[in-house]
Amino acid sequence: MKEVVLGIDIGGTFTKYGLVDKNGFIFNEGSLPTDRHAKVIDFITELKTSVHQSLGDNYNIKGVGIGAPNGNYYTGKIESAPNLRWKGVIDLTDLFEEKFGLPVKVTNDANAAALGEMLYGDAVNMKNFIMITLGTGLGSGIVVNGEIVYGHDGFAGEIGHTIVDPEGRNCACGKRGCLETYVSAPGIKRTVFELLATETKESVLRKYSFDALDSKTISEAANNGDEIALKAFEYTGKILGLKLADAVAHTSPEAIFLFGGLSNAGDLIFVPTKKYLDQYLLCIYSGKIKLLPSKLQDKNIAVIGAAALMWKELA
Ligand SMILES: [Zn+2]
Repeated sequence: MKEVVLGIDIGGTFTKYGLVDKNGFIFNEGSLPTDRHAKVIDFITELKTSVHQSLGDNYNIKGVGIGAPNGNYYTGKIESAPNLRWKGVIDLTDLFEEKFGLPVKVTNDANAAALGEMLYGDAVNMKNFIMITLGTGLGSGIVVNGEIVYGHDGFAGEIGHTIVDPEGRNCACGKRGCLETYVSAPGIKRTVFELLATETKESVLRKYSFDALDSKTISEAANNGDEIALKAFEYTGKILGLKLADAVAHTSPEAIFLFGGLSNAGDLIFVPTKKYLDQYLLCIYSGKIKLLPSKLQDKNIAVIGAAALMWKELA
């Protein structure tokens, strides 16, 4: 029987899972909506059914690794995740251990992605790097001396909620001007709409409603030379480069990886981010920091990373 770990990535809308072997190969991937059940236990029951339906009996599951918003490695709980239907503190480890009868480890989705890159991606030989996950928010996993930085309470590395402008955009976390309100899929949309409001230039983006516009459309427009779209990417890269320069000062990473969502725009986001990162870096770091796309870009990094968390425990 093949030894595997069940990796689970709990997102605001969808939950993805897969069986991952020790070498990072993923089998029997599946997904289900996260927000269908008012009670978390009903969600876990559906997840277990879904996993077992696709399973067969060729696998020996050694444990469960979970990446979840506001997932706390120390406590094994989700604490007040703004984008989940279940409010307050959820003891995910207890609930999953009871349901699956297996050891369970929890961390947040960005830390899971960093672990995936560290065990199976381009950070295999790196001791110090930062993983930035770009989706509906901006997550970050920070690795120092070969270990994820969890900090005193387990929540270290929330670069997405460091402040760009104290008088800036409202954030889902309750603060104003957080990085993720500018650098994320909704963030670049907000920028496009600001530009459309202040500029008179023609743009294909004018015909979209806020809900209908997505970052892929903005990328396509930019690739076709749309000035508003190009300006939006330049502005987004500038703010990301600015905050990454701060992050470099804290941990001196060898590389910063960008994963998901906006990072799929390639040069449109990488070029301005690198330009402003270099511009804002303290001179002692100049030219030393690589800005790279995640090697696991096309794979399910959050699932592989969640499994990597458990494999690391089992090692
Ligand atoms: Zn925030």
